Amino acid sequence: NRQSKIRNFCIIAHIDHGKSTLADRLIEKTGLLTKREMKEQILDNMDLERERGITIKLQATRLVYNKNGEEYILNLIDTPGHVDFTYEVSRSLEACEGAILVVDASQGVEAQTLANVYLAVDQDLEIIPVINKIDLPSARPDEVKREIEDVVGIEAGYAPLISAKEGLNTEQVLDAIVEYVPKPEGDENAPLKALIFDSFYDSYKGAVAYVRIKEGAVKDGDEIMMMSSGKKFEVNEVGYFSPGPRPVDELKAGDVGYITASIKDVKNCRVGDTITKADNPCDKALPGYKKATPMVYCGIYPAEGEKFENIRDALEKLQLNDAALEFEPETSVALGFGFRCGFLGLLHMEIIQQRLDREFDLDIITTSPGVIYKVTKTNGEVLMIQNPSNLPEQSEIEYMEEPVVDARIMIPNEYVGNVMELCQERRGNMINMEYIDDRRLILNYELPLNEVIYDFFDALKSKTRGYGSLDYEFKEYVKSKLEKLDILLNKEVIDAFSLIVHESKAYSRGRMICDRLKEVIPRHMFAIPVQASIGNKVIARETIKALRKDVLSKCYGGDISRKRKLLEKQKEGKKKMRQLGSVEVPQEAFLSVLKYD
Ligand code: GDP
Ligand code: MG
Repeated sequence: NRQSKIRNFCIIAHIDHGKSTLADRLIEKTGLLTKREMKEQILDNMDLERERGITIKLQATRLVYNKNGEEYILNLIDTPGHVDFTYEVSRSLEACEGAILVVDASQGVEAQTLANVYLAVDQDLEIIPVINKIDLPSARPDEVKREIEDVVGIEAGYAPLISAKEGLNTEQVLDAIVEYVPKPEGDENAPLKALIFDSFYDSYKGAVAYVRIKEGAVKDGDEIMMMSSGKKFEVNEVGYFSPGPRPVDELKAGDVGYITASIKDVKNCRVGDTITKADNPCDKALPGYKKATPMVYCGIYPAEGEKFENIRDALEKLQLNDAALEFEPETSVALGFGFRCGFLGLLHMEIIQQRLDREFDLDIITTSPGVIYKVTKTNGEVLMIQNPSNLPEQSEIEYMEEPVVDARIMIPNEYVGNVMELCQERRGNMINMEYIDDRRLILNYELPLNEVIYDFFDALKSKTRGYGSLDYEFKEYVKSKLEKLDILLNKEVIDAFSLIVHESKAYSRGRMICDRLKEVIPRHMFAIPVQASIGNKVIARETIKALRKDVLSKCYGGDISRKRKLLEKQKEGKKKMRQLGSVEVPQEAFLSVLKYD
């Protein structure tokens, strides 16, 4: 039957173990694209999108593979590779029956490998291990196989040994997919039940839903209904990607493809939602639907000379394609009109900041990222606070709570001391320590999210020479002694610098921020006191001395081109300045405040 010739699979791997390279090789091996076309089509599809005004997002690609004269349809479903997107990963996995687990033959199993494997196991996927990079002199495939068996707990004896880079043994991967990934099941005649595992916005077609049809069938002209909202739309196209969109008459149970229905906004096309038919709905939605909830917030403001409206337009455009991005207007005394934006995590935040800069060419200032604190007031009212400026008076606060994450950190033995010290310093609580083998172990810590978002990942990397890897998920809100730390420039509180910190950190962070600001704020014609305070108590202070002479006097008599360069540099610097009260502050000041040393 039809379904016996379909395989739906994904590739999971720790970052840099070769997932993208293997995907490219499989695409090439099945003859979908030649090497050159592939370069043109696959690489950098964001750039491509802009240049040609079309959308190619290789979230699900149909490959056709011939095995012993039989044609198989292999649907390769891509999964986001970062801890910020765990929920999205789980929905992509839900669309598959099997997962290729790529493990680097020289690195072995790492934290993200495990995190993804656990998700795949939760979804009951068949996991097929593949050992990659066997071309490397440092490859130790036999050891890594044993590691997979010991740590992941799946059989690995039969794992193909491949080099995705050199295309060595990659057809063994295709064979294994056909052989070991179970065929899809589901009744084609039942009411429609389709899982949205991703969506994107196309300026012509509206929101495009990537779907896995679990039961039933869907075709052009059908009236569909989103189970979470009850909203109805008329289908204008169904099809699959190979790698560009290929319309078909109908998608049926077991298929992976896309549906368009003039849906104006990806918010009506949420990952995890179930699509059914309006006139013959299924009895209940697929389990596990969750609205993406932002965990990290920051303010985004126009830099000097940039328009508020431009930022709003850009955020609206980005949101069309990113249902997890939230924003609302807010005002800051120091920065004027801007937006408070919510993100799934730090990486998500960085992606959006970069896109505002690169794709929209905007000059923005971002305030310190923060988490959502739960504040219980003495009158019993409970507030969720994202912006330190909205914190009630200390006297009105009964207690505060902060989000804590469950973190798994995988490291080589020799760094265990360093990392425990780091976690200790970040107010971590050790839950468990587990040896994987004689070289590596997993530390399981409860860590305040607030501490994780301040450079934790960079600190971990530097304390483990790049070998440490991290995976975390939200656990719970916990009571905590938190305080609002204000920064004053020339005696004025600059609200954009305000932070909520743990009382044990207030003093050191206050000191550090004053230090940093003293370094990055240029001298003015007058002396500028830089202070950190809690309530009305100043806990740290620095002074930026008054400027004595023009900068140019430094190169007296000197050569003219050097002077010109200096002037240009000054001008360049000017562009990125922000007037805060009487003080001009460079944009980098806002970033420098966020960094631990
Ligand atoms: P991903 O992060 O898992 O998608 O990893 P990539 O596919 O981007 O690969 C990460 C790096 O490893 C790239 O520099 C690849 O060229 C390299 N790489 C991938 N496969 C192999 C392989 O089989 N052998 C070697 N030597 N390098 C590889
Ligand atoms: Mg990749």
